[in-house]
Amino acid sequence: MRAALATGVDTPLSLIERETPEPGPGEVLVKVTACGLCFTDLNLLRGHYPFARFPVVPGHEITGTVAALGSGVTGLSAGDAVGGQFLYDSCGHCGYCVSGDQILCPAKRVTGIVADGGYAEYALLKAGYVTPLPAGLDPVAAAPLMCAGLTAFNGLRRAGAGPGSRVAVIGSGGIGALAVRYAAAMGARVAVIGRSAGGEATARELGAELYVATRDTDPAAALRAWDGGANVILNAAPSNEAASAVLTGLAPDGTLVLCGYDNTPLTLAAQPMVLNRLHVMASPSGSPHDLRDTLAFSAQHDILPQVTPITLDEAPAALEAMGGGSGGGRRVITF
Ligand SMILES: [Zn+2]
Ligand SMILES: [Zn+2]
Repeated sequence: MRAALATGVDTPLSLIERETPEPGPGEVLVKVTACGLCFTDLNLLRGHYPFARFPVVPGHEITGTVAALGSGVTGLSAGDAVGGQFLYDSCGHCGYCVSGDQILCPAKRVTGIVADGGYAEYALLKAGYVTPLPAGLDPVAAAPLMCAGLTAFNGLRRAGAGPGSRVAVIGSGGIGALAVRYAAAMGARVAVIGRSAGGEATARELGAELYVATRDTDPAAALRAWDGGANVILNAAPSNEAASAVLTGLAPDGTLVLCGYDNTPLTLAAQPMVLNRLHVMASPSGSPHDLRDTLAFSAQHDILPQVTPITLDEAPAALEAMGGGSGGGRRVITF
């Protein structure tokens, strides 16, 4: 099979030919239909994950069909449409695992960083960690839901977004655009915080009632003027400074959710946090049941991201281009 391989830090992906793997006990061989390019894949090449196992096939926004089952796998059949995500597997017996919080398992492994992922014609995944796709879901457009969608949906619901709440989303890229649509579909009122006024039309199309351009307006003041502040602010921008700047735009008892971040320390003013009982939480992707819920909600509300299909051969250059912040929707490798 053909695959793209990450061989080390600061080294471009290599395109290789290798044996198609055979599924062992508890494993599922998935014929990959599509795999999204996530910023995590770029950060892998930038050396941001000291636990990475090189060489590794990147990619954790996988959709495909079951090609073969290892021994002991039940509940799946050849030809089933499935998704593979960031969480490759976990220990299965710690307190987090048994309560369905596998994403918090201390022994969790990450697809495309320590185990081979979806930049290949086939991916070997673990039976308990692949998720059936709802019938009729376009597997190419749905690929980014396995990571960007899951992160946005799960972050919002854990922070308490719901009917009537005011949700502000910083950034409207991969995670941000989905977060705006999910929040609107959850019944929340939505604001988008962007850098320039140029993002306003898109934000309103996605369902935002308020758009704040930080170049022209203090975002915290603008949110406080929005019926007393946001109940939830989700930072989808890769910038801690952007999160710090909006903290006092939270309403009392409000929650700042960190999905996007950079490698600088996060600085937050403590006094307004204490006086207003503010919360800060971070949200790492999600567990298998969270992905089922994300996909069901996406199918029910017809929420699919805009994607740009590319070939595997185009993946190395496309990943490097992401570092330059080029737009055009989420890139998805199709086979
Ligand atoms: Zn565990
Ligand atoms: Zn990702």
